[in-house]
Amino acid sequence: MQTFQHFINGQFVASASGKLFDKRSPLDNTRLGQVAEGGQAEVNAAVAAAQAALHGPWGRMPTDQRVAMLHAVADGITRRFDDFVAAEEADTGQPHHVIAHAFVPRGAANFKIFADIVKNVPAESFVMDTPDGAGALNYAIRRPKGVIGVISPWNAPLLLMTWKVGPALACGNTVVVKPSEETPASATLLGEVMNAVGVPPGVYNVVHGFGPDAAGEQLTRHDDVDAITFTGETRTGTAIMKAAADGIRDVSFELGGKNAGIVFADCDFDAAVEGIFRSAFMNTGQVCLGTERVYVERPLFERFVAALKRRCEAVKYGRPGDAGSNYGPLISQEHRRKVLSYYAKAVAEGANVVTGGGVPDLPGLLAEGAWVQPTIWTGLPETAAVVREEIFGPCCHIRPFDSEDEVVVLANANRYGLSTTIWTENLKRAHRMAAAVAVGITWVNSWFLRDLRTPFGGSKQSGIGREGGVHSLEFYTDLRNVCIKL
Ligand code: NAD
Repeated sequence: MQTFQHFINGQFVASASGKLFDKRSPLDNTRLGQVAEGGQAEVNAAVAAAQAALHGPWGRMPTDQRVAMLHAVADGITRRFDDFVAAEEADTGQPHHVIAHAFVPRGAANFKIFADIVKNVPAESFVMDTPDGAGALNYAIRRPKGVIGVISPWNAPLLLMTWKVGPALACGNTVVVKPSEETPASATLLGEVMNAVGVPPGVYNVVHGFGPDAAGEQLTRHDDVDAITFTGETRTGTAIMKAAADGIRDVSFELGGKNAGIVFADCDFDAAVEGIFRSAFMNTGQVCLGTERVYVERPLFERFVAALKRRCEAVKYGRPGDAGSNYGPLISQEHRRKVLSYYAKAVAEGANVVTGGGVPDLPGLLAEGAWVQPTIWTGLPETAAVVREEIFGPCCHIRPFDSEDEVVVLANANRYGLSTTIWTENLKRAHRMAAAVAVGITWVNSWFLRDLRTPFGGSKQSGIGREGGVHSLEFYTDLRNVCIKL
C-alpha cells in the first residue's frame, strides 16, 4: 500500500502533524493507499521553498536553459508513461484508452507547447516623438509573476494540473500545487520526474490535503503567493476569489459548465450521435466541457433519442485494463451520492427516463464501486434542476426545438457559458450559431478537439480569464513597459 507524501523543496516529506487520510479505489472502494494531509505548516514550507527558488537558481536561469529543462520534463513524463497511466487509472478508475490516449499525452504536451511559446513570443515596442526631437523608445518586457498557487480538480488530474504548471514554469514562475484530495498520485509522481531531470528544488512543490479551512484555502490566503490559478467548481471559485481579495492576488479560473449540444436536422446523423455520446458520457460524464443539455431539431428528435439510448445501453462496465471495457465509475462514493440525488430529482420533477437512472448490477467487488448507469431524460421544462444545474455525471436531458432562434435562447438561458457542440452540415448556420452562443469554446461537428495554441476558458460563471497559447502569458507574466529617452 502506497503513502503519498508532499513534495516540498525537492524532497518527499510527511506532514508535521503526521496526519494521513485514505485514498479509496472508485472501482471497488478498496483502500489504495494513504495520503499526507497538509496544513499551514506544509503550505508555509512549500511557499518559502518556491520563493527561494524564484529568487535563486530558477529566477537566474537563462530562458533557453529553462525551455530545455521543460522539454526534459515532458520527455521524463513520456519515459514514465506506463507509471503515469497506472497512477491515473488507480486514482480515477477510468478506461485505459481515455487515460493513455487523451490525458497522459496531454500532460507531456503541456510542458512542450508553453516552453516553445515563451521562446518565440515577440515583444511590443513603440518609438515616440519628444519635444527636443530626440525621441524615446518604449518596449514591453514580461517578467515572472512570482509564486503561483495551483489548485486542481480530480477529473483529469495530470492534464488539468500541468495545463497550469506548464505555462507557469515556462514563464519563469515557481509553483505550489494543491491537487485534488481524490487524486494524489500523478502530482506526486511528477515530483520524481522533476528531480530526475534536474529541475532545481522549490520550483515545483506539492501539498496534499483538503480545500476549505485546510491546505487549499491556506494557499489562497498566503501573503507570499502572488497569483492563484484554479480549476474546479464555480462555488469554490467564489470562495477562492474572496480569499484572494485580501492580498489583491490575481486569479485565473476555469469553472463549471452546463453545456448545450445542438443537433440540427441537416447534420451527419451517425457522426452527431457518436459526438453527443462522447461529449455526454466520456469519463463517465465527468468532463467540464461535457454535454448535459441536448437540443435536437424536431424532425430528428425521436430517431436521435432512440440512437443515443442504444449507444448508452451498449457501454461495457469494467476495470481500466479489462478487455473491451469502455465505461468507468464516478470518482467517489460521495460524488455518486450527489449524482444519484439528481437522478432521483429528475424523476420527482416528472422526467421521462429513457434509459438508466440508477446503479448497474455488477458482479463481485465491483458492486462496491462508485458506479452509475448512463442516463437520458426527456420531457422536462428548462426550469428543472437537472436541466439548469451542473451534475458532472453521465447524464443528459434531450429536448426538441423548431428554429435556430429558439435554440439560441434555450442554449444561452443558463448561468454557465463554457462550451457548446453544434452539429450541422450548413456552413452559414454553423458560423451564425457560433457567434450567437455565449460560451468560451464552440465546437462544430466535433467535440474535445483541442489545439493548445487557442484561447481556452469560460464565459459568464464558467470562468475568469483565458489560458492557452499566448493567452496564458497574460496571466503568468507581469507585463512592464520600459521607456528610454534617446
Ligand atoms: P472542487 O471545486 O470541489 O475542487 C477543486 C479543488 O479545489 C480541489 O483541489 C479542492 O480541494 C480545492 N478546494 C475546494 N474548496 C477550496 C477552498 N475553499 N479553497 C481552496 N481550495 C479549495 O471541484 P472538483 O469537484 O474537484 O472538480 C469538478 C468541478 O471542476 C466541476 O464543476 C467541473 O466543471 C470543474 N472543471 C472545470 C474545468 C474547466 O476547464 N472549466 C475543467 C475541469 C473541471
